Amino acid sequence: MDELWNPERFRNWTLFLDRDGVINRELPSDYVKCIDEFEFEPGAIQAIADLSDLFSLIVIVTNQRGVGAGLMTNTDLNTVHEHMTRLIVSAGGRIDAIYAATAEDRQSTERKPKPTMGLKAKSDYPEIEFEKSLMVGNSESDILFGKNLGMKTAFIDDKNQFEQRNSAFGSDWVFSSLSSLAYSLMNSGIE
Ligand SMILES: [Mg+2]
Repeated sequence: MDELWNPERFRNWTLFLDRDGVINRELPSDYVKCIDEFEFEPGAIQAIADLSDLFSLIVIVTNQRGVGAGLMTNTDLNTVHEHMTRLIVSAGGRIDAIYAATAEDRQSTERKPKPTMGLKAKSDYPEIEFEKSLMVGNSESDILFGKNLGMKTAFIDDKNQFEQRNSAFGSDWVFSSLSSLAYSLMNSGIE
């Protein structure tokens, strides 16, 4: 990997996480509408616990147009997020904030790859520095969102589209899962 990849580099940075396909299983052609449909990706809870020790803020940015489309309510979405956060916290992890773009319109300026959710986070947490932020996601819009804000980016290649170590959508790093990202980070560069 070209870029320096070790825990000390990211200490006190902000970690921006996509949700579906990174933290929890993405449902094919559907939205996670209730906790019964929410299933963590293997190793994701422990990964977030490990990353919580390193990053000073952990922020989820998620496109959830199922709300705007009327397939679920904001309350449904909040219930899923409370459930997710509770399990993460009980494993020693942390989620500091969650931003969801719920508009139905795919062109909505709230949605990734537009930077709106990142700017909202910065407004709520002025200590965020985008140049000291890492965006992790499993779609092109996640990587573009991070790059639009000047963040470092890691692509989660959950569909095995890219050879490991090859750049995906111009991302700085590629991993097969959040778990492998955290493992790689925690076990690299320790001198
Ligand atoms: Mg995703």
